Amino acid sequence: MSTIPSLSENSPHILVLGMGGTIAGLAASPNENPLQYEAGQVEVDALLAHVRSAIPTGIALATRQLANINSRNLSESLLTRLGEEIRKELANPLVRGVVVTHGTDAIEETGIFLQLVCGRYAQDLGKRVILTGAMLPANAPQADGPSNLLDAIRWASTPVDNCPGGIYAVMDGRGCMAMDLSKRHTTALNAPIAASPSSSVGLINPSWLSGVKALEAAWQEDLPIPKGDEWPWVEILTSHSGARSETISHWLDTRVQGLVLAGSGMGGFHDEWLKPLAGAAKRGIALVRTSRTGAGLTLPNIPEKDLDGCLASGKLSAPRARIALQLALNAEKQAKLAGKSLTWQDFFARIAVLPEVG
Ligand code: ASP
Repeated sequence: MSTIPSLSENSPHILVLGMGGTIAGLAASPNENPLQYEAGQVEVDALLAHVRSAIPTGIALATRQLANINSRNLSESLLTRLGEEIRKELANPLVRGVVVTHGTDAIEETGIFLQLVCGRYAQDLGKRVILTGAMLPANAPQADGPSNLLDAIRWASTPVDNCPGGIYAVMDGRGCMAMDLSKRHTTALNAPIAASPSSSVGLINPSWLSGVKALEAAWQEDLPIPKGDEWPWVEILTSHSGARSETISHWLDTRVQGLVLAGSGMGGFHDEWLKPLAGAAKRGIALVRTSRTGAGLTLPNIPEKDLDGCLASGKLSAPRARIALQLALNAEKQAKLAGKSLTWQDFFARIAVLPEVG
């Protein structure tokens, strides 16, 4: 990890953590083809240098470059490092809040991860962690990164009576809970946030805010962060017309620990999967059912009664349900080591019942 020293680290400040992404990307021909670019090229210090003159006086900043990747290559060990870094920084009395610049492709996975491993901690400390990114590279004529970064820094520094501590995201002038992020468009400037319950960053919407408070009240205890090389192996499988039983049976003789089933409609899957899924459950493979539709709830025993032990994902999309299942499996393992008989279902159920915001 490269740590860029900053003048502000010895006084109260907002920490800006760089992870890479398009916000740090460069296009070879930005005027002709801004969408052909390489993500993760510019260091977070340089991103801040562009916006420094617009940062309101009184906000001191420090930076740290944790990675500079295209987030489609996000690894579990990097999530572990990010989670540990954020917990450590939140504990620092000089850190007022944290902004994370991140690629938008996998931002929803990082969003739910941070909510589940340090959402309660951030809330209890009254500090905000804000994820942001961009859809256009840093050298594109209409680059959206600078305004997103400024909005994120302002949001991270607003008083907690405006909006409680917790894990949020800011894009295209709007803010949402980071666990509600879902990138559902390839190029739109608001792609990661358009489908999420959100508020304008300028004027916080009271009904959104009351949804945030209800969700935060329901999230009582953070889950442990898995060690970098100890993340449970969980795959996402999508049901579709012509689905084959082999898509499931393939996994039965592997060391896979969980399967997230992205079903059609309300999360139902092809009948061809029924028999091999019963076999998977017998072998102790954790099963979670979600929907490939991209919006709405996946509820238990709807449209049919669930296989024994298979849980519905609630509001979680498939990528988010996968992270939640990995953390639940890890929490089960840690609980066993501590002599407690809690199962992954106990932990996952706490996540699947979290209310929708707004
Ligand atoms: N592929 C890029 C990434 O996720 C997209 C982005 O940053 O928006 O890093």
